[in-house]
Amino acid sequence: MEERDIMEVDVLFVGGGVACLSGALHLMNLVKEHNKKVEAGGEGKKLEELMVAILEKGAYVGAHAISGAVMDPGPLKELIPDFLEKEAPLEAEVKKDEVYFLTEKGQFKFPMVPPPLNNHGNYVISLARFTEWLGQQVEDSGVDIFPGFAGTEILYDGDRVIGVRTGDKGIGPDGNKKSNYEPGIDLHAKVTVFGEGSRGSLTKTLIKKFNLDEGRNPSNYVVGVKEVWEIPEGRIEPGDVIHTMGYPHKGKTYGGSFIYGMSDNRVSIGLMTGLDYEDPYLDPHREFQKFKLHPFVSSLLEGGSIVQYGANTAPVGGYFSIPKLVVDGGMIVGDSGNLFISQKIKGVHVAMKSGMLAAEAIFQALISEDFSASRLESYQNSLFESQVGQELYRSRNFHQAFQGGLWSGMIKGGLQYFLGGKILKDRLPSEPDHSRLKKVSEFYGTNEPSDEQKGIIKFDGKLTFDKETDVYYSGTTHEEQQPPHLKIADLNVCYTKCKEEFQNPCLRFCPANVYEMEVDEETGKPNLKLNFSNCLHCKTCDVKDPYEIITWVPPEGGGGPKYTVV
Ligand code: SF4
Repeated sequence: MEERDIMEVDVLFVGGGVACLSGALHLMNLVKEHNKKVEAGGEGKKLEELMVAILEKGAYVGAHAISGAVMDPGPLKELIPDFLEKEAPLEAEVKKDEVYFLTEKGQFKFPMVPPPLNNHGNYVISLARFTEWLGQQVEDSGVDIFPGFAGTEILYDGDRVIGVRTGDKGIGPDGNKKSNYEPGIDLHAKVTVFGEGSRGSLTKTLIKKFNLDEGRNPSNYVVGVKEVWEIPEGRIEPGDVIHTMGYPHKGKTYGGSFIYGMSDNRVSIGLMTGLDYEDPYLDPHREFQKFKLHPFVSSLLEGGSIVQYGANTAPVGGYFSIPKLVVDGGMIVGDSGNLFISQKIKGVHVAMKSGMLAAEAIFQALISEDFSASRLESYQNSLFESQVGQELYRSRNFHQAFQGGLWSGMIKGGLQYFLGGKILKDRLPSEPDHSRLKKVSEFYGTNEPSDEQKGIIKFDGKLTFDKETDVYYSGTTHEEQQPPHLKIADLNVCYTKCKEEFQNPCLRFCPANVYEMEVDEETGKPNLKLNFSNCLHCKTCDVKDPYEIITWVPPEGGGGPKYTVV
């Protein structure tokens, strides 16, 4: 077996998003406060030379941070009370909220904004910029951040998590070592916190190993496809927030759009599509392009230009899909733990608060030198008792209510909110996203559907773009000479069953054109080409593949999108 360097730290955070960053900073603050009290003659002993480290797979902190971000500043105020003096990059305070229902050519404005979508007191942010700034505050507090390093394997001692192994660098496409080969290192920690974002690849294995989702609903996701545009002055003010429902989604497809006014005449615009959709020909990227052609949206964007593109999944299964969040030596925070309020389309403040509450449990564990699940469990209890826990509980059946269609969802979800969660008390069931996809013959009948039925449109290169052009605006790059990081368990399924039954939906659900079906000119046989260097790390394929044969694993650290403003 290969010798690997071992690095010992006290606490390891896996993922450089807002959940882990907030957790690391809060932990450092708690330890500093404690040490000061001890120095001043208080009880206990000092926690000296605490080593806290964060692994981030992106090239820099914030590189993979994307969200339709309107942030509730509650946890930020607790964590960094002087965030305004410290010049937190907030685009604008929300000044106007509007909600519309779109038909194919027109729109109806809701007479009032549903309370969950009232954003008064919140801020429009670029999550990439905000995360980068938060990372700087964390580094200043003494935490070691390692960008460009992905955790690829969880390390265990029996059933106790003892850290993670980082990915090897310099492995060629054939799996052999190249001249620049560097083995990954083993980071050992007393506590390892998994905050890898939506559908975390290590978190997925942790949940499976310990059945942490036993008795819970399955995880459900949306994929958000998003662009930032610079538009002519005066069309939207910074802090204007618009949400839409309806077009281009059809009755049973969950989701909606957001349009957020940013500074410098920029607008953040995106469409979320529930991955429990049924139509095998649905393409979330194409739906977003269609959305931009709606007169309500095109009148905003025309004459402007695209600045950035990105896509990501977000967990929308809600309260009943949250797995057990602690194991011996390990914790799960943020989107990785399905901590997201889909009714409000918000996860940033929930992620921050979960990181901070995890930090409080870790602090107590460090004091008592007990890192068992029973000691760390205070995190989970305090999370559910906190305001964000109550928000999660109040909207606990929101997404499930929509699996019966838009109207039944709006009525049931709305009533549950207005009545303070007093109806639909018990868990409504939900189905995993991959199992909801219908076969072509089930959805369209036995005749081949027309291009119009499939929703195919031509892209004009001005308002609408193909996937390759959009990916260019995400800054995505990967080392080309490495094995693909999309692991397909059985390619034969792609060429036979999946082709016959679903017409290879990966060609459509991936928003980056990573999956391409070629036909070998000589043999006439199909070949699935993986353009893995386009990958936006959104995890849609890991969620939606109907046979569950695609597994997303981290590529060489530093690869992926390079977001700056989304
Ligand atoms: Fe997203 Fe998978 Fe496509 Fe990568 S390959 S962009 S993770 S759907």
